[in-house]
Amino acid sequence: MTDVSPVPPPVASLRSPSSGSPRVVIVGGGFSGSALAVQLARTGGAHVTLVEPNTVGRGVAYATDPEHLLNVPAAKMSLFPDAPDDFLAWARTQGVSAAPTTFLPRALYGAYVADTFARVAAPTTRVIRAQVARLTEERGGWRVLLADGERIEADVVVLATGNPAPADPPGLERIVGSGRYVANPWKRDALAAIGPDDTVLLVGTGLTALDVLVSLRTQGHRGAIRALSRRGFLPLPHLEAGGPPAAPAVVIPEGASFEEIVRLVHAAGRAAVTAGQAWHGVIDGLRTSTSGIWARLTPVERRRFLRLVRPYWEVHRHRAPGVVLEHVRRLRASGALEILAGRIAGAEVAVEAVDVQYRRRGAAGAVERVRVAHVVNTTGPDTDLARAGGPLLQGLLASGVLLQDPDRLGLRTAPTGAALRADGTAHTSLFVLGQARRADLWEHTAVPDLSKAVAALATHLTVASLVVATG
Ligand SMILES: Cc1cc2nc3c(=O)[nH]c(=O)nc-3n(C[C@H](O)[C@H](O)[C@H](O)COP(=O)(O)OP(=O)(O)OC[C@H]3O[C@@H](n4cnc5c(N)ncnc54)[C@H](O)[C@@H]3O)c2cc1C
Repeated sequence: MTDVSPVPPPVASLRSPSSGSPRVVIVGGGFSGSALAVQLARTGGAHVTLVEPNTVGRGVAYATDPEHLLNVPAAKMSLFPDAPDDFLAWARTQGVSAAPTTFLPRALYGAYVADTFARVAAPTTRVIRAQVARLTEERGGWRVLLADGERIEADVVVLATGNPAPADPPGLERIVGSGRYVANPWKRDALAAIGPDDTVLLVGTGLTALDVLVSLRTQGHRGAIRALSRRGFLPLPHLEAGGPPAAPAVVIPEGASFEEIVRLVHAAGRAAVTAGQAWHGVIDGLRTSTSGIWARLTPVERRRFLRLVRPYWEVHRHRAPGVVLEHVRRLRASGALEILAGRIAGAEVAVEAVDVQYRRRGAAGAVERVRVAHVVNTTGPDTDLARAGGPLLQGLLASGVLLQDPDRLGLRTAPTGAALRADGTAHTSLFVLGQARRADLWEHTAVPDLSKAVAALATHLTVASLVVATG
């Protein structure tokens, strides 16, 4: 394995040779791309083009059914880190009164991002409704080729291409494309073929599975559902208002080993519960130090984290609203939903059904079978961009313009968000926003983390565009 340390790029001038103001092309208008356009419009000084094939401001997360709730309380969802009440205040203007701890609909959040973009950025931003197919370096800048053949010249390109569709879980090869397998539950009408009494197997038991359970209820589904994942863990609930006090943050000493960190966090969580406090404070208290801890782990420690600790981390860190988990509890109590822990061993198309074989966790070798009408892939976004990144990212990875980490968590980036080339050097005019940066930051998925990165990149670009070109 090659370990490539990011080389911080100098603050190079990003001025355009013709007009002075840099021409910034943002690829992707989900949360990250739209938020960057908003921040750049506030500071001014750049010619910004946003390229997005779908509605601006939504992305996968917020172009969704009205009954899907945010997984983060409203008070933490502001687009602006320096104005934490912005989303709550905007919601009030729409007649929605919410407490800071309320989990508002994700579709409403998409409307907030779209409306903020329309008010702040749209007047000075060129929006092109298209897919970017290719990017090539040209004379110190970039040539952006759109899928329809149009070309745009750019001084700076920001890749904000977001959440790829889930990868097909190993073992399901024989049912992929069968019509009984939903590969991507985020596609519009993805669940339309599932009849009210059809049996369903969800592969994955995280937040995407909860979304699908809510969507099935909304469409009147009443058939038996099984949900399978390696450990059968469901997301844990957020701390509700009126619950026990949150435990204090745990202090991680500088230089603590991987084992020590895991031990400290685990012990602090247990001590909190024993003392009648909520463990949530321990996990939330790590928010500001998570990226630093991740950066200090060796490649071997990171792999151990991914293999052994990640499943526990995910359910404690990426929590669900209590109201959603109450729906799950009722489904389980009525026998309509069974959670299975195991590993898929194979799958076949049968008569008007599919058979899925899996090895139950802990049951040495025994293969069990589930016969269902539909299988839905709820494993969440694929992080391997060499597989899931589409022609644009796949091409940039293949040509060495971008570098993916050996664990295939995402793109390697410098602290500014500058993309790294295959040789480990940092670009001065190609940046990455969004969860593709998790190879270097680990916890870089939700709006509270993304909005800070967006604001920091806007500042960096503004400073860089003010640097006088020296030739
Ligand atoms: C189902 C789901 C629910 C979530 N819920 C929450 C939540 O409640 N709270 C929270 O804080 N976070 C949530 N998240 C995390 C989420 O990742 C972030 O909040 C945020 O939406 C990520 O925005 P993004 O712009 O980085 O990526 P995305 O929202 O995925 O947007 C990327 C955009 O890039 C476009 N694009 C891709 N390739 C190209 C190309 N070649 N050319 C042009 N455009 C392109 C896509 O069309 C898309 O619109 C959720 C994530 C998912 C998947």
